[in-house]
Amino acid sequence: MTSAPLDNVHPGIASLRPYQPGKPIDELARELGIDDIIKLASNENPRGPGEVVQAAIARELASVSRYPDGNGFILKQALVNQLQVDAEQLTLGNGSNDVLDLIARVAVEPGYEAVVSAHSFVVYRLAVTCAGGVLVEVPALNYGTDLQAMAEAITERTRAVFIANPNNPTGTWVSRDALVQFLDQVPDHVWVVLDEAYFEYANEPDYPDALTLLPQYNNLIVTRTFSKVHGLAALRVGYGVSSAAFADLLNRARQPFNVNSVGLAAAAAALGDQEFVTESVTLNNQGMTQLITGLQGLGLEHIPSLGNFVAFDCGRDAQGVFEALLQQGVIVRPIAEYGLPQHLRVSVGLAEENQRFLQALPRALA
Ligand SMILES: *Cc1c(COP(=O)(O)O)cnc(C)c1O
Repeated sequence: MTSAPLDNVHPGIASLRPYQPGKPIDELARELGIDDIIKLASNENPRGPGEVVQAAIARELASVSRYPDGNGFILKQALVNQLQVDAEQLTLGNGSNDVLDLIARVAVEPGYEAVVSAHSFVVYRLAVTCAGGVLVEVPALNYGTDLQAMAEAITERTRAVFIANPNNPTGTWVSRDALVQFLDQVPDHVWVVLDEAYFEYANEPDYPDALTLLPQYNNLIVTRTFSKVHGLAALRVGYGVSSAAFADLLNRARQPFNVNSVGLAAAAAALGDQEFVTESVTLNNQGMTQLITGLQGLGLEHIPSLGNFVAFDCGRDAQGVFEALLQQGVIVRPIAEYGLPQHLRVSVGLAEENQRFLQALPRALA
């Protein structure tokens, strides 16, 4: 007798639970038979892409029969100018998730460990498990990353630590002092990955720009994305910045054409449109105040957030509240899979979207 084919698969992957994306607008529209649906579920830029970027996308469409530039020369030059790093330090990805996946494959050998915080971004689990690594989850402190506990969880078998700053779905962040103290403690055999997907939104004096720490710590890797403030989530462009030597390894493991040409052109154009970024951040600050004021008015506690989203406590299992919001055409994000079954995460939308959410919420809680 031969064994069933499904017995002979990667056991880590077979144990993964499928990623649950935010519910698509079209799907809910079909289910409810209505079309004025708002989605505040995936931390997207509610303004859509800027006009400069849309023009760049339109220009690039005529060339999609050609393979993209596998080295992303133009985007890398734009990043070099903006970030003051060398092109050799950059790794482009099909979204920063692709870069996180590459990091796990390069840094975490099968059977070795990667340390993450409780309530941290699920893609770390996905990437580490698929690389054959073992995920070590450290309890959180006030919902946030407990760097001291993370340092204590490091063993001789640890190869990487993943920290989202700020973290999704909690919005919590680590300060510059705490991060430096942590980096000083981490042994040389451990790669520290700082995921700064929400970097542009995080305007708080003690919030660190990890790129400034790269010269001192050559085990540090910083990832960023065009999916959030730049409004390009569907085009899938992100990047990593590391030592040139580590970037060389990431680029060897990378699929040759992992970033598409439309995404490359759009991302380069987005870097040139700082006004769009500034306006988006201002809108986010206003929307965050609007949401927090509304939540407080309803007597609901929230987790202070440096991102473009906020998690709040429903005071009971949140699934029913989520569904009651859906019935009113408002999509938010349950985060039970992140170990927060009583919380919902709402992305900051346009003022009128935030308003509609805040109007729907008391009814959903009733
Ligand atoms: C949204 C998000 C990303 C971005 O992923 P992309 O693949 O670049 O779209 C990365 N990390 C965190 C923590 C996020 O929330």
